[in-house]
Amino acid sequence: MTGKTHVLAGAAAGLAFVHLAVPAAEREVTTALLLTVAASIGSIFPDIDEPKSKMGRKVPIVSSLLKSIFGHRGITHGILLYALCYAAGVHFLDVKYLDYLRAFMCGVCSHLLLDMLNSSGIPLFWPVSKKFSLARIPLGGTMERGLAVVLGIGILGIGTLCLRGAFI
Ligand SMILES: [Zn+2]
Repeated sequence: MTGKTHVLAGAAAGLAFVHLAVPAAEREVTTALLLTVAASIGSIFPDIDEPKSKMGRKVPIVSSLLKSIFGHRGITHGILLYALCYAAGVHFLDVKYLDYLRAFMCGVCSHLLLDMLNSSGIPLFWPVSKKFSLARIPLGGTMERGLAVVLGIGILGIGTLCLRGAFI
């Protein structure tokens, strides 16, 4: 999937997280936006192992290093890395930041799920090299554009639910 589709999915995941995990009485626009941004960053994070990706261009040295060691769709596309990061976050982060970590992880999950929708698949249980694929949606094709439209509609719907829960 393209970076734009990943960001749309991450925003939808972030809004869904806000709607499901943050009680309506405690929702604030600023917090909801920050959680959605955290999920959107998480949605492009796994491609840090590709120097040409949105995330890879932000940190080209790290990206090139990761790609040379693990290849694209290697360690950053398996759940082990994120399980360890989440465990470390829960252990070391202040409780008030855990929702941001969880939102980030929702974005990461959206990325992994979308990457499983094309035939290349991902090594979900890295370091086991077997790749998992759920569908064969070609990169940037009509089906991906249709998926992006569905995600955009989902963002509007979930965003509306969040706003209604918070302010109405
Ligand atoms: Zn990816």
